[in-house]
Amino acid sequence: AASSIKHCLAGDVPAGSTVTVQGWVRTRRDSKAGFSFLTVSDGSCFDPIQVVARAELDNYASEIQKLSPGCSVRCTGELVESRGRGQAFEIQADSVEVMGWVEDPDTYPIQPKQHSFEFLRDVGHLRPRTNTFGAVTRVRNAAAHAIHRFFHERGYYWINTPIITGSDAEGAGNMFRVSTLDMANLPRTDAGDIDFGKDFFGRETFLTVSGQLNVEAYCLSMSNVYTFGPTFRAENSNTTRHLAEFWMVEPEVAFADLDDLANLAETFLKYVFEAVLAECPDDMAFFAQRIEPTAIERLESVIKAPFVRVDYAEAIEILQASGKTFEYSPEWGLDLQTEHERYLTEVHFKAPVIVLNYPTEIKAFYMRLSDDERTVAAMDVLAPGIGEIIGGAQREERLDVLERRMDELGLDKEGYDWYIDLRRYGTVPHAGFGLGFERLVSYITGMSNIRDAIPYPRVPGRADF
Ligand code: ATP
Ligand code: MG
Ligand code: MG
Ligand code: MG
Repeated sequence: AASSIKHCLAGDVPAGSTVTVQGWVRTRRDSKAGFSFLTVSDGSCFDPIQVVARAELDNYASEIQKLSPGCSVRCTGELVESRGRGQAFEIQADSVEVMGWVEDPDTYPIQPKQHSFEFLRDVGHLRPRTNTFGAVTRVRNAAAHAIHRFFHERGYYWINTPIITGSDAEGAGNMFRVSTLDMANLPRTDAGDIDFGKDFFGRETFLTVSGQLNVEAYCLSMSNVYTFGPTFRAENSNTTRHLAEFWMVEPEVAFADLDDLANLAETFLKYVFEAVLAECPDDMAFFAQRIEPTAIERLESVIKAPFVRVDYAEAIEILQASGKTFEYSPEWGLDLQTEHERYLTEVHFKAPVIVLNYPTEIKAFYMRLSDDERTVAAMDVLAPGIGEIIGGAQREERLDVLERRMDELGLDKEGYDWYIDLRRYGTVPHAGFGLGFERLVSYITGMSNIRDAIPYPRVPGRADF
């Protein structure tokens, strides 16, 4: 059986063993002394392994000397301590079997040089072959596992919430409509409108913008739960922090208030950062060296620092007193913009900040109303360098208040009947948050465009690959 290159390089396989590695050629260099040096990567770790192929091999001239970046190979030989600089181990090949050639080496998109991220987005099917996207992929994987572990260790159940839904959790109206209609043969009502009654679900459906409402229901039975799955927003995501399709982590905690939630968010972020630093040291070293010099330090400082907690009202006062000219001037009743969030975290507090108690009118209907009704028990966690990373709230658990809020906002209560029911049958205080997983990956890696933090970005005008 083949060994992973990671195990070979890490010294898990004893030197002197015969190993087989399989992967894709990164580079080939021929020495005058009658050797070829291949570097081969299989995705298992940051570094490729060096394979030394001697001229005595049967296929040396016919094949090995024709290998180019991107070719796939299976190499068998002795794992030996490397005399060259760099790696501790290399393979002295007894055989190099070519599995797949590159059709036209000159036009192979991933050459051993630095490509721009814009260019690599156009070859999304091949970009994981680069150092950068290999590293992003491994970090993303480690972060996702750490998230599941964090909740699992604390007794939370992972709940899979539906992707096709009838309700708009955010009430923001930026949902993609799911159509199961035969576009060539649209059913019509007598009045000539499209007859959605004949649709597959017998009603209008959308791709979910958040699993929250569904996960709340499970929270009010199973106590501590979370959902972690894809969400969709038909918003103008022509920014470096928005995608039309992104993954969201949404825990929901029973018998909890906003303070409990802020504590959970802080512990959670620190746990995930620690796990990634421990599990992906080589990938993180690469990000620090090539992408964002502070990539490692800033995670370490977030792990150490207590998060600052500040009321929204106080945050506005700080911004107003800052003497700084913002594009949008800060004012009570307006949502914080990225420029405000970054001022608070990077200039004023120089730490992650949890902003608490936002004005009622800028937040969703399900957030818990304060006694004076001017604010709701909402929070945003802001990180230096990126701004909002988590949004959360204590939920409105009181039936009468929730119904009144929905009426005030003109929401169709019938559509949310099942959600309102939860307040009719054994309601309890509960709270939850949403973390954008790609925001997190982008923050951890320092990849400044969120399109480079997900394998296949979905943005306006684009759904290739
Ligand atoms: P923003 O202010 O950045 O638009 P939001 O307040 O609209 O975010 P929420 O509804 O609070 O977002 O969603 C919870 C989290 O999901 C956010 O804190 C963010 O991390 C992430 N998120 C929201 N919208 C997107 C998006 N379009 N692409 C990627 N992540 C997103
Ligand atoms: Mg938004
Ligand atoms: Mg926001
Ligand atoms: Mg938010």
